Amino acid sequence: MSNVKTRFAPSPTGFLHVGGVRTALFAWLVAKQSGGKFILRIEDTDQAREVQGSVEHIQESLQWLGLEWDEETYFQSKRLDIYKKWADKLRESGRAYADPYTPEQVQEFREQAKRDKQPFLYRNHRPDPPAGGPPIWDGSQPLRLKSNPKGYSWHDEVMGDLHSGEEVIDDFILIKSDGFPTYNFCHIIDDHEMEVTHVIRGQEFLASIPKYLNLYEALAIKPPIMATMPHIMSEMGNKKLSKRDGAKDILDYRDEGYLPEAMINFLTTLGWNDGTEQEIFAVDELIKKFDISKIQKSGAQFDERRLLWLNGAHIRKLSLDDLYEKVAPFWPEEAKNADESYKKRVLTLVQERLKFFAELPELTRFFFIDLPINPELISTHKQLKNYEHSRLKELLETTLESLQQSDFSADDLKERLNKLLELTDEKPVALFSLIRIATTQAPASPELTGSLHTLGKDKSLSRINSQLANF
Ligand code: GLU
Repeated sequence: MSNVKTRFAPSPTGFLHVGGVRTALFAWLVAKQSGGKFILRIEDTDQAREVQGSVEHIQESLQWLGLEWDEETYFQSKRLDIYKKWADKLRESGRAYADPYTPEQVQEFREQAKRDKQPFLYRNHRPDPPAGGPPIWDGSQPLRLKSNPKGYSWHDEVMGDLHSGEEVIDDFILIKSDGFPTYNFCHIIDDHEMEVTHVIRGQEFLASIPKYLNLYEALAIKPPIMATMPHIMSEMGNKKLSKRDGAKDILDYRDEGYLPEAMINFLTTLGWNDGTEQEIFAVDELIKKFDISKIQKSGAQFDERRLLWLNGAHIRKLSLDDLYEKVAPFWPEEAKNADESYKKRVLTLVQERLKFFAELPELTRFFFIDLPINPELISTHKQLKNYEHSRLKELLETTLESLQQSDFSADDLKERLNKLLELTDEKPVALFSLIRIATTQAPASPELTGSLHTLGKDKSLSRINSQLANF
């Protein structure tokens, strides 16, 4: 096992959407491809923002996708002693101090800076240290880093070589007056203590990295490898995809019958490719080929149609037994008493066109019950709407006559349907659509020969008769 260790460090503030999942996925891929470890750390130090049930939801989402984590799930709220120990160390070495101001006073400094048209820097108001001994801190005030302003150059695995000036370095809060550490402080302690080698996170943290580098120095901790994920952009317009923008709960995709492997394929190839035209990847293949340094730096556009297309492609790759097992919760109510071999025959017919499992009832209900005659299917059909009823009747009668003599084997049906085209002098789009509608009463259905063969002789003929009775 290599020493590579990555982490997913979500805050439990609500459901996980594709943006968060992609960050987790990339961290998982980096760990897997080098035989390293992937860990899950719940960053729950902002208790006001915590949403009940988020932790279970995050874990369920990762499990659905197969992004299993090594080690126990860590909770920052259970590690307060550890942060306190490191904070004391900083305080004792003169690198952290108690913030003596009230929030109103700090706000006033901020407003003064604005009036002076200067950027606000807390460090310009840093109080004088008390003479002798470490600065006193009783925990009722925020504890701040005594920063050491300087410029930085560093490498980000995705964003490349980056630079910053000393003006972005400030005395930020390490521990809040409620006793909880800030993200800025405790993620650094945790990554160090948990021996994380690669910090893979969203773009919203990029501007803060110089501050973190300053803190790493104060703590004498070597920074890990950094990789910043560009945003996922919303489908419409050029802004970051957010929950407000309709980014869905990742488990909604599971409930609609998306395959985890399709979701992984989709998210990995959002802004990354292996340099070829290949679009459909199995998870194992992605583990081998994924290269974090080849992620594009700019935001990748979310495209739900592409996800749908990829899901269809992954559905087509499933063996019949696998498909049968996976669609189990999605059958229409009417299929409850149908036997396995019949359902498997139905599945063979629809596998080609199924894009997500929640479509299954609509695509297959007619295999299990007689749907009521729907005259609109003919009256709105592009090819059939201009036919006289008498002609439609004639066509179905001719069809009925021929099919009555069929043994309903696929070969025989095929031959008869072709002969019917000759006999009636109709085009397949017209005649076959008519037979399809008569025998299914559904707006869409799989190819005709297979559908008739699966429905069987009795059902097919009785449905044609019902349609005839309706003209
Ligand atoms: N807790 C942070 C968030 O959920 C994670 C940042 C990180 O990955 O370091 O946004």
